[in-house]
Amino acid sequence: MSLFDLTGRVALITGGNGGIGLGMAHGLAAAGATIAIAGRNPDKSAKAAEELQKLGVRVATIDVDVADVQSVQDMVQKTLDRFERIDILVANAGINNRMPPQDYKPEEWSEVIDINLSGPFYCAQAVYPAMKKQGGGKIITIGSMASIFGLPFAAAYASTKGGIVQLTRVLATAWAKDNIQANAILPGWIDTDLTRNARKQIGGLHERVVDRTPAGRWGDPADFAGTAVFLASSASDFVTGTAIPVDGGYSVMGG
Ligand code: NDP
Repeated sequence: MSLFDLTGRVALITGGNGGIGLGMAHGLAAAGATIAIAGRNPDKSAKAAEELQKLGVRVATIDVDVADVQSVQDMVQKTLDRFERIDILVANAGINNRMPPQDYKPEEWSEVIDINLSGPFYCAQAVYPAMKKQGGGKIITIGSMASIFGLPFAAAYASTKGGIVQLTRVLATAWAKDNIQANAILPGWIDTDLTRNARKQIGGLHERVVDRTPAGRWGDPADFAGTAVFLASSASDFVTGTAIPVDGGYSVMGG
């Protein structure tokens, strides 16, 4: 059997209905995994499921708000009811808002914290009993270049993305005894709905990203398929607590 074969494994991907989440879902499905994609927009989820089914794997769509702990528990139960196991959690759903730190209203701060940091924590807590019972599992979280660098316009977002790296380390250390590996992926600048607005709102952003990225381009959701398969498969069984940049070299560019 290939180290990267995911036949018989079940992957639950929050925000799997678009952008980077869908890019990872494609990779996991191509490696043979059964896929549950969870998001807020049912039409978007249905369209994504149609795409994934063409790869010949079983796919379910689940409506969830990851900021709501009950909704997260329901999502996990629905996945177990449908597929009987969860081997891979990709806690990917996330949002951003942009303003100087002094301008945040409490609700603008909390919304990002609740979705980007509390959400992945609730998801990890909710899948833990199933993974423990099954004898192991893989948790993939999504950080950002904002996990590493200060972004003057993204106090809430950068705080969650720094926090997600620490949360991932905690899960890795706490659950290693249960054969659960937890790792973060740190995307560079990727062309998705999340960044399309930023490109419109921030003059020169597009060019600055291209100039600063050694690969000389923005990333594409398809760039995440390979790293997701690695972190979801037995190829990474002795890899845990890490944060892997998938950024075309952005985070190591000097000068
Ligand atoms: P998108 O906006 O394309 O995708 C975000 C996804 O999250 C959507 O599928 C959305 O589903 C889902 N989502 C948002 N809020 C909730 C919620 N409360 N409950 C459930 N699902 C939710 O953006 P990206 O693909 O770019 O972002 C994916 C992840 O990658 C995020 O964590 C983001 O922070 C991170 N990232 C992205 C970068 C980039 O350059 N694009 C760079 C660094 C990190 P729906 O539409 O159904 O609400």
